[in-house]
Amino acid sequence: MNIAIDGPAGAGKSTIAKLVAKNLGSIYVDTGAMYRAMALFMIKNNVDSGDIEAIEKTCENADISIVYEDGAQHVILNGEDVTPFLRTEEVGNMASVSSANQCVRTKLVALQQKLAKTTSVVMDGRDIGTVVLPDAECKIYLTASTHTRALRRYKELLEKADGDKSKVAALEEIEKDIADRDYRDMHREHSPLMQAKDAHLVDSSDMTIDEVVREIMRIAKK
Ligand code: C5P
Repeated sequence: MNIAIDGPAGAGKSTIAKLVAKNLGSIYVDTGAMYRAMALFMIKNNVDSGDIEAIEKTCENADISIVYEDGAQHVILNGEDVTPFLRTEEVGNMASVSSANQCVRTKLVALQQKLAKTTSVVMDGRDIGTVVLPDAECKIYLTASTHTRALRRYKELLEKADGDKSKVAALEEIEKDIADRDYRDMHREHSPLMQAKDAHLVDSSDMTIDEVVREIMRIAKK
């Protein structure tokens, strides 16, 4: 059984998808990490986010693959494990620009579909239910209000900075970043973020992690 979880940035997709995968004994596939690895490659090659030609050329030279160590996904970019470098705001913002490119999408969607062919997966992203796994047995569109998502991200960053507020961007800035990212993801030409017709909407704004996991398990077992 394949489960597709789509939704905007900061909706808690990866936390939830990991727990659902554990409950079901499936593999968790974080497709955002693949787009982030591609974005990291763009940054390393000094590609300007507005230069479509450079994005396409650079994409051709990126070899991205996935390995699992103790159940955790690692992204390999041209032979190097880049997993620790993917979750920065800079990489996330570049990913939301470079992921709009068809060349980037074609390459990564092929990798994602290959992974889901050989094993049961819980895969999260933006276009899993609509494009990557249109036949997934269970589709979830997981969202939360922009403010809730920004607040969660702020708390996560603050925790990483050991509570030092001076090292963390202001909440308003994070909220604006999230809104910009949503806009780009939802309005791009190729595979925009949208709820698949047969996806179940789960709004986690007022739900705990446990409640969301239980709700998805209930939907999956229907
Ligand atoms: O989910 P995450 O924030 O790690 O994704 C980073 C960016 O990668 C997203 O903003 C989105 O533009 C892109 N992405 C995508 N399709 C996916 C997963 C991520 O376009 N399936």
